[in-house]
Amino acid sequence: MRFRLIVGRSKCGRQIEAETLGVDKRSFAGLYIAKRQRAYPCSIAMKPKREKTHQQELIEEVHAIYRELANRPIERSCKMRTECCQFRLTGKVPFLTKGEAMVAARAWRATGRKLLPVAQDSKGNCPMLDVGTGRCRIYENRPFSCRTHFCSAAGGPYKRADVIDLIRRLEEVDRQLGGEGFARQLETAVSGELGLDR
Ligand code: SF4
Repeated sequence: MRFRLIVGRSKCGRQIEAETLGVDKRSFAGLYIAKRQRAYPCSIAMKPKREKTHQQELIEEVHAIYRELANRPIERSCKMRTECCQFRLTGKVPFLTKGEAMVAARAWRATGRKLLPVAQDSKGNCPMLDVGTGRCRIYENRPFSCRTHFCSAAGGPYKRADVIDLIRRLEEVDRQLGGEGFARQLETAVSGELGLDR
């Protein structure tokens, strides 16, 4: 017969069995240890979950910023010509805050890829550009710069004053995620979130 020796409840309301704590349920000494440590399994189990939840909230904030940007009454029309994705052609590279990089890295992983290809052509294609189709592989999750910067076909760069509040929110997300306090070049930023050094 199996006995369940409940020695208390954790802060999250879960019943704690002596066995959960790895102590001998027949032993008075074990019970004493279990009682002394009754909050232990809960605090250990809950800490990473809380951190993950907060991180998820910050990721959601990045998506909310992207949605808000899309709803701003600023006349723009991205034709997906991807000229802005060819960095040697434009002479400019998007810079990403940590939250943007995490969103981009997640989207990249969701395509089934783990590594960023190294650009080898003369145009300096973004590693996330599908050269075959001419499409961004993470278009729905593309960084803020890709939505606002220098593409003349889409209407030129946004005025900073029109989006400065959103930039400040991205910087706040960066701060709360423990970012470095400055945006990083696209490839470096996304590689960092993928666990690769570039
Ligand atoms: S992330 Fe997408 S939109 Fe941005 S530069 Fe790369 S391919 Fe272009």
